[in-house]
Amino acid sequence: MRTPVPEYLHEILESCRGNTGGEVATYIPELGQTDPDLFGIAMCTPAGTVYSTGDADAPFTIQSASKPFVYAVALRERGLDVVNFHVDVEPSGDPFNEMSVDSETGKPSNPMINMGAITTHCLVGDSGLSPMERSEIVRRELSRFAGRELSVNETVLESEFKHRYRNVALASMARSNGFILLEPDDAVWGYTRQSAIVVTARDLAVMAMTLANGGVNPLTLEQVVPQWVCRQVLSVMATCGMYDSAGDWLSNIGIPAKSGVGGGILGALPGQVGIGTFSPRLDQHGNSVRGVEACERLSRQLGLHLMELPAPSIDAIGQQSTTESGAVLVALQGALTFPSGELMLRRFEEIPMGGDEIVVDLTLVPSINVVGDRMLREGLRRLGRDGHEVTLIDPYERIPNPVAHDRSEIPVVDDLETYEEA
Ligand code: GLN
Repeated sequence: MRTPVPEYLHEILESCRGNTGGEVATYIPELGQTDPDLFGIAMCTPAGTVYSTGDADAPFTIQSASKPFVYAVALRERGLDVVNFHVDVEPSGDPFNEMSVDSETGKPSNPMINMGAITTHCLVGDSGLSPMERSEIVRRELSRFAGRELSVNETVLESEFKHRYRNVALASMARSNGFILLEPDDAVWGYTRQSAIVVTARDLAVMAMTLANGGVNPLTLEQVVPQWVCRQVLSVMATCGMYDSAGDWLSNIGIPAKSGVGGGILGALPGQVGIGTFSPRLDQHGNSVRGVEACERLSRQLGLHLMELPAPSIDAIGQQSTTESGAVLVALQGALTFPSGELMLRRFEEIPMGGDEIVVDLTLVPSINVVGDRMLREGLRRLGRDGHEVTLIDPYERIPNPVAHDRSEIPVVDDLETYEEA
């Protein structure tokens, strides 16, 4: 059989193709040269499979879709406190090129609008670097997110830098308020070169999946940024990524996302999918019209909204039974997280005090998160304290270091047979 996913993606593309609303950006004259009919969609999974359709390999400049990645690099390099000192994380509700600052401190509102993005660009690398050196670091770092060497479109860079005055005004204000130390022209040149990095919809999908994958590129398996950075970046994308339509986007589509005036949109749903779309005609907010529609359909049809009810965990804890040798067997089933962990503890609670042998089977537990791990170890500790002898069946080492919360070791076997033989 052949997987239906590529056909499905193609249907999405065809169902949005007729939407020719919006205009190609012309305030950067070179962007006005883009073929407005180009349209591509790509989707990347945590396992690194990339599905694509239409013009998913057509090159375009990344523009503002670069902002989350440069923010991520700044966070990794400088830490959260330093970056927070320079740029806020408050949605501005303003267009991307507005002078949006905190009314008391004058700090740029967030790193997803131009003023905050120029500020975060300046946080990459040593302050003594030349604008070219800094923007080369940015290009190389974005390449790591994409899993391939990205280049710069010099014509777009030149075209935008000629019309840089609004961004220079934003950089000058950020400098005057004390959040940028570089010369405004230098800061804007580097930021403009960052915006002129060339990507495809396929690249955006892989870059998005890297953010949605705790910082590990699904193709190269390289850890580009740590997990905490991704959580921070995705949060800010969710609240500020789509500028003055961010609230509408979050409630309607519910995927942390970022658009660029080159026509790209990337969407990153933690642990699930990276989406990249390319279609150059933009709405009044500067977001790709067909890209927004494609994301809307994908979100609806694939159940990708962040606030969607999570997969049921209520039945995740399997039945309690007795082994041949008379031990109490608790076979857990499904991911161990807070709600399923709570059920597990209640199941443990039903076991009366006294010297039973208890076997807890993790064979059908695919994953255990931080709190699931704590709950399991603490549950095992309490069962031990109640006078039970507890053994774990853990063939896939879901509990890599089998020590309960009181540091007592928990015996582990690979299957029930081994347990019965012992
Ligand atoms: N480089 C563009 C600018 O500064 C990026 C804007 C965007 O993509 N929204 O205007």
